[in-house]
Amino acid sequence: MPRAICRECGGFPVVSITTGERHLDGSRVLLHVVCRTCNGTGLILPAPALSQTGR
Ligand SMILES: [Zn+2]
Repeated sequence: MPRAICRECGGFPVVSITTGERHLDGSRVLLHVVCRTCNGTGLILPAPALSQTGR
């Protein structure tokens, strides 16, 4: 079954965000945010039949 690229992150599950601050050595302070939708894989499994149940 083919996997689909995560819609939340578009296949870039780990994003580095600059905080605007600097470390003591002059390098930028980065926050690494991992996409919670795909857990950092960049791919999601196609929606299972859950959406068809109940209604
Ligand atoms: Zn994602």
